Amino acid sequence: MPKKRVVIVGGGPAGLFAAYKLASKAEVTVLDVGRMPDKRKCPSQQTAFCTKCNPCNLTSGFGGAGLLSSGLLNLSIEIGFPQVTLDAIERDRARQLIEEVDRIFLNFGAPKEAFTPDERFRIWERRAAEAGLKFVTAKQRLIGTDNATPIILALMDYLRRNKVKLRSGVKVETVSPGYLTTNKGRFEFDKCLLAPGRSGMKWLANIMGQLGIQTRHAPVDLGVRVEVPATLMESLCAIQRDPKILIHTQNYDDLVRTFCVNHNGFVVREQYETHACVNGHSFSNIQSGNTNFAFLVRVQLTEPVEDTTRYAESIAQQVTLLGGGKPIIQRLADLENHRRSTHERIASANIQPTLKDVTPGDISMALPKRLIDNILEGLQTLNKMIPGIYSGTTLLYAPEVKYSAMTVETDRHFETPVEGLYVAGDGAGLSRGIIPAAVTGLWVAEHICSKL
Ligand SMILES: Cc1cc2nc3c(=O)[nH]c(=O)nc-3n(C[C@H](O)[C@H](O)[C@H](O)COP(=O)(O)OP(=O)(O)OC[C@H]3O[C@@H](n4cnc5c(N)ncnc54)[C@H](O)[C@@H]3O)c2cc1C
Repeated sequence: MPKKRVVIVGGGPAGLFAAYKLASKAEVTVLDVGRMPDKRKCPSQQTAFCTKCNPCNLTSGFGGAGLLSSGLLNLSIEIGFPQVTLDAIERDRARQLIEEVDRIFLNFGAPKEAFTPDERFRIWERRAAEAGLKFVTAKQRLIGTDNATPIILALMDYLRRNKVKLRSGVKVETVSPGYLTTNKGRFEFDKCLLAPGRSGMKWLANIMGQLGIQTRHAPVDLGVRVEVPATLMESLCAIQRDPKILIHTQNYDDLVRTFCVNHNGFVVREQYETHACVNGHSFSNIQSGNTNFAFLVRVQLTEPVEDTTRYAESIAQQVTLLGGGKPIIQRLADLENHRRSTHERIASANIQPTLKDVTPGDISMALPKRLIDNILEGLQTLNKMIPGIYSGTTLLYAPEVKYSAMTVETDRHFETPVEGLYVAGDGAGLSRGIIPAAVTGLWVAEHICSKL
């Protein structure tokens, strides 16, 4: 009997790990609008400030958004798994799938060393508790930007050897029961997985609308990227590469959190169609003297405007407008003193920014007061756990936005009301990170396998 045709949209972790599980069990095709990973050395490894090359590009293609960036694997259900996903997969099964994803990464060349919680964490947990913070600890494995491409290429080689077709430069335009239309023609399927990531979340929401499938707005995370001398976070990052710290502010009872910590890393610019944003990278072979992390306030909107993406975009556009098309940088002392930063003030500080393509300015002109209050209170609280973070020379870059996708109406196998049409990964609001995205891919693939 001929094998069933499975088409996967998106070559990020969700799509590739689904393909891994389905390879040899079905006739699998993975389509991605982006390109194949490049074997050549990434130019940003020489300059570290590149904004146009593969790792910084949100629509990077095979390998997905962040795997070709810092490539930090958070091996815990506490990180990056929205409640809706844990409810569906269930915690124990999710843990098993995390181990499976980790094993696959190791097989394809991920570094064996991991940051594993041990007794050294206790002192930090106690400091966090004393400061009124929550320190979420997890086993972590750092692939690093420079190791990521060979690992993805090895995984893709495996898929090709198992007859999976990988097609780059294919933009999926419409989805109908049984077939897709693309810029490269029509693809028919028995089962289809849509895993278009954050870069494809608007497209996915439109497709869901056309198919009459319900979607709901999820919260968005908005704030700044903080950059401090690396020495301040040396001992914490020695045991936990990407420390996740949660703060509930007293003023507003809002959640503020650290995210994507890049120890000895670089702040980078991300360019969207209508605005600029900042992000962070770290490399295993090039180190700066600084550490950066996103410091984000969670924002959920209720009626009359629930569209958190539009809200966040409008704020990011305002920052970009004030920055003359660039992100804004400000010293904490200048923010406190209600004045803009200047090139001279920044140059005189003990810490120099790793991102140069920015405009010194006043982020309080562009971010709402509630965000600024939350950021200042959050940093003061964080300072109790990591002394020195709340310092006049601490650098703040804006805007830093982690857009959350719409959540899509599905059953617990992430199958939509259209039979045989599944969703997975960040674009469907089911994950926030490489590991959770890959887990949702495996989870969907298991269900498809059971139906083939
Ligand atoms: C700069 C950066 C750094 C990050 N660092 C980390 C990190 O260190 N650790 C971590 O856990 N997470 C990190 N992340 C987040 C992580 O990359 C994502 O959570 C993860 O990649 C999501 O996987 P995904 O498969 O859902 O989507 P993606 O990885 O976004 O893949 C989706 C793919 O779908 C393709 N696509 C979209 N629309 C279409 C269409 N219409 N037709 C065809 N193809 C389409 C895109 O080109 C893309 O390649 C980072 C993200 C960024 C942007």
